[in-house]
Amino acid sequence: MRWDSQLVDASDGDALPGLEGSRGLIRRFDTPEFRGMEFLEVTSRSALNKVPGNGFMGGAWTINPYRGCQHACVYCFARNTHTYLDLDAGADFDSRVVVKVNVADALDAELTRKRERPERVLLGTNTDPYQRAEGRYRLMPGIIGTLARHGVGISILTKGSLLRRDIPLLAEAAERVPVDLAMSIAVFDDALQASVEPGTPTTAARLATVRAIRDAGLACTVLMMPVLPWLTDSEEHLDQAFAALAEAGATAVHTTALHLRSGAREWYLAWLRREHPHLVSRYEELYTGGANATRDYQDWLRDRVRDVRRRHRLEVHEERRRRHPAPVPAAVEEIEPTLF
Ligand code: SF4
Repeated sequence: MRWDSQLVDASDGDALPGLEGSRGLIRRFDTPEFRGMEFLEVTSRSALNKVPGNGFMGGAWTINPYRGCQHACVYCFARNTHTYLDLDAGADFDSRVVVKVNVADALDAELTRKRERPERVLLGTNTDPYQRAEGRYRLMPGIIGTLARHGVGISILTKGSLLRRDIPLLAEAAERVPVDLAMSIAVFDDALQASVEPGTPTTAARLATVRAIRDAGLACTVLMMPVLPWLTDSEEHLDQAFAALAEAGATAVHTTALHLRSGAREWYLAWLRREHPHLVSRYEELYTGGANATRDYQDWLRDRVRDVRRRHRLEVHEERRRRHPAPVPAAVEEIEPTLF
């Protein structure tokens, strides 16, 4: 691997590919606790990223304490970002995770010296800040505490039930700065969830996390996305999902159809060929125009979802949208017209 020359025992390490703000790889290990995983620990000079451009996310500030994600969702559109690190978008993305071990200290130093202070910082826009590694590294408490201390709003999107650990801290932070929390829960069929999101906590565990957040008096948006054509778009599945989300106390629910950009597309279609081969040709037709499903499908899905969400009183009113903005990831923002 190109990184080999940058290991700690190497004589002179420049920045890792794609981590130019980092001092270099300081340690690499795998552990019985996380069999099959490799953690590549780096120290970073900076924690904050500013999203370039004028798009919906343009100008937003983000923090990504981890690169790569053990949650291993087959459809994950962040996969391609691993190739910037000279790692592959498939198995490497799931099992070789870069950890910015000094992220809270770097953030503190950056906010102390920065003239331009972010109003709000988004976490979870690239990879999941509450993936299992967070149980070991405990980077989030430091990040949350630092942001609150500097008066910066916090917006977190996760599939990780580990967020429950930090609810007291988030409730405390919410007394000083705006805190927006969003849980991603897309699949309400246990076998399918284990197959398509093999490293994630169960749907039940994530619903329990939504409930715990609400019990602590905080709002919790749910991103029920992606909706997987012919796998999770049935009336029955959507109805079951919205019933469970309403029962858990979700403050708002957003859905969108599966987005298949390069990196995710190859990985997802390979999974589909293995697990649901009868659907492959239908998907090829549905995504013939690129990363988005056809407009007809999106319109059909929007109408179906609208009826179900009405039934469960989870309509997305403008007022609700304004008060509980979903911290949607950058890749979702690029397909914002399909978000409903
Ligand atoms: S949790 Fe999010 S970042 Fe992690 S693999 Fe799944 S979709 Fe990707």
